[in-house]
Amino acid sequence: MPDKKNIRALSDEDLMAWLAKEKEPAFRSKQIKEWIWKKAARNFREMKNLPSGLIEKLENEFELGPVRVNETQISSDGTIKAAMLLSDGLVVESVLIPKGKRMTACVSSQVGCSLSCKFCATARIKRKRNLLASEIFDQVVLMDRLAREHYGQALTHIVYMGMGEPLLNFKEVVKSVRIITSPEGLGMSPSRITISTAGIAKMIRALADENLRVNLALSLHAPDDAKRSQIMPINEVNPLEDLKDALRYFYNTTGIRPTLEYVALRGFNDTPEDARKLLTVTKSIVSKINIIQYNPIDGGEFLPSYGNQLKRFTDLLKKGGAITTIRRSRGKDIDAACGQLANKNKLSEQKQ
Ligand code: SF4
Repeated sequence: MPDKKNIRALSDEDLMAWLAKEKEPAFRSKQIKEWIWKKAARNFREMKNLPSGLIEKLENEFELGPVRVNETQISSDGTIKAAMLLSDGLVVESVLIPKGKRMTACVSSQVGCSLSCKFCATARIKRKRNLLASEIFDQVVLMDRLAREHYGQALTHIVYMGMGEPLLNFKEVVKSVRIITSPEGLGMSPSRITISTAGIAKMIRALADENLRVNLALSLHAPDDAKRSQIMPINEVNPLEDLKDALRYFYNTTGIRPTLEYVALRGFNDTPEDARKLLTVTKSIVSKINIIQYNPIDGGEFLPSYGNQLKRFTDLLKKGGAITTIRRSRGKDIDAACGQLANKNKLSEQKQ
């Protein structure tokens, strides 16, 4: 028997056409979509207001391809990392970061990653495939359940900063945002969603044109092309000038100020000279900058910037007028912090 189609990957038109072919009334489409997205049904039997004959047809023809939580680990700081099992047996990771009233889910957009950022554990896992919008959606639903279960609170924010480069899975990422923010889906405000990119200028512009109203974070991590290309090979084809142009376009089109993420690496990008160069970048675009503590990965070549060195660096940025926030990483003890996903767990089996 051929593989069943994933019903959540069907377009509205395809679903309508299938219902017509099966001689089912068109209004069933609305009911099915409500079960699929708003109620996040895990199987067709849950769809109580559908007649049993239709449920049977749906079961025979389609699957829901649900993502399941395979394993969770809880950090001493309350961060929860979940290994998410996809319907084809591959695994990605999602992270729940509780901070006061803020409950943030960090979701993955690809299995592995095709970019080779030197500071990142995910880079060691070959990209296997893009996630479907429904698989990104499921991570959000499951992290929301974990947030309610462990902290009695619903999710408040979503960041696309897990495994993979979201803008290289553009169509499904955009689709997932539309479902998550739609009243027919989870109804979350797009202002609580951030898409993070390693920097693909053309796709930053495309994202602006989608008018999703989401936030954008650029993983900058170095103040000039020479250093950036050393740690992020994608910079060779997306140099800083192109990225700055794209960020200006994003700001001018959406009115949303992009964030620059900058992981501070000891002796590599945290010197006073780096701060001065970085200020020339921040001054040329409307932006804010997050300085992130680096989390070393096994066998990695970098160490975190710390103490006076880090303070001098951030003080220079602030003095230079950059809107600067220092982000302490969460979930380090369970390898859930930025850049650590896939560091030491069964994902390593997916490397090849
Ligand atoms: S930092 Fe992001 S884009 Fe770079 S290798 Fe890691 S997952 Fe991929």
